[in-house]
Amino acid sequence: MTVTPQQVLDRLAGVLSPRGVALTDAGVLSEIAVTGDRVLFSIDVEASEIGAWEDVRARAEAAVRAIPGVSVAMVVLTAERKAGDAAPTPRSTQGIPHVSAHRAPQKPASQSPMSRQSDIPGVAAVIAVASGKGGVGKSTTALNLALGLRALGLRVGLLDADIYGPSIPRLTGIREKPRLSDEKKMIPIQRFGLAIMSVGFLVEEESAMIWRGPMVTSAIRQMLRDVAWGELDVLVVDMPPGTGDAQLTLAQTVPLKGAVIVSTPQDLSLIDARRGIAMFRKVNVPVLGIVENMSFFQCPHCGTRSDIFGHGGARHEAERLGVPFLGEIPLHMSIRETSDSGHPVVESEPDGPHAAIYRVIAGRVRDQLHSVIAAA
Ligand code: ADP
Repeated sequence: MTVTPQQVLDRLAGVLSPRGVALTDAGVLSEIAVTGDRVLFSIDVEASEIGAWEDVRARAEAAVRAIPGVSVAMVVLTAERKAGDAAPTPRSTQGIPHVSAHRAPQKPASQSPMSRQSDIPGVAAVIAVASGKGGVGKSTTALNLALGLRALGLRVGLLDADIYGPSIPRLTGIREKPRLSDEKKMIPIQRFGLAIMSVGFLVEEESAMIWRGPMVTSAIRQMLRDVAWGELDVLVVDMPPGTGDAQLTLAQTVPLKGAVIVSTPQDLSLIDARRGIAMFRKVNVPVLGIVENMSFFQCPHCGTRSDIFGHGGARHEAERLGVPFLGEIPLHMSIRETSDSGHPVVESEPDGPHAAIYRVIAGRVRDQLHSVIAAA
């Protein structure tokens, strides 16, 4: 049975807002996006009111989840509206979520990353894997790095926060959706010894979503806070690519201990990597180092190596910028095939040369993490 946006609005009409009127009459709802059995929308209020609305958000989510045919409901509370802003017109779209209203992004507040550490109970350290642009292998690196850390004996979680193109469901082959705990927290999916959560479990990867910056931040904050992560030594966050306002805000919303930048060796990609480093420095998140992905081409037949992208660029860039160089990952067919078929190479070929490279990189990340924590 297909759920319609009108059915969702009908349910929300039964939820009372702090303004004394039904949620649907409060002028705070975004479009209602329905993709199959998943419903996503936001409640946009003024920052000064946000405390009063958290409960409404939770009730709205529960009301929508109770609609027959809905398996996942995500309601995001955003505090981007300024006093006097016109109320959005509640509209609904079936299919691709599209949030067209654009307002100025929030200015990130300056906060020390260490002071935000206690934000996720049970999680000792959160690290970001970021890239200045898409397509450099950030998600593949994030997943294999998480597996490398796990191979070192750490308890590891992976949060796919790449809201613009969540690829972790594909890279891990996870099809199921997270269940809710008795405390109404989402339970991460356990795969390959990792606790995994992805925005892609909640919305389709193909729905090319257009999210406004503040909505991204609120969604990620909810995914950090409303997920039963359990006890973890490291939570690896696969960030959305790029260095725009959304990424900047996210970099300081997530309680990060450090960031790993993934780049390819080409000049253009390095310029983006440089921007990424500058972004993390701006919000006082230590850069744990740069990984050069697709560093050189290794022929799957003869093993011959060709430096088709002029290999070594990221190492030089790291030296120039005074950040650690974490390692080089070759461009290799087996990394692409294992990655895209849901069997990441560190898991599926643990004795192979690529798994060994990721484990070495993971060891360096762990050591860097220890030193930034010790220096804090
Ligand atoms: P991003 O997260 O930066 O967009 P992905 O991790 O999704 O990038 O990778 C993009 C594509 O490149 C995927 O098809 C992936 O399998 C492939 N890929 C990533 N790293 C490598 C590598 N070292 N060798 C071969 N293919 C790779």
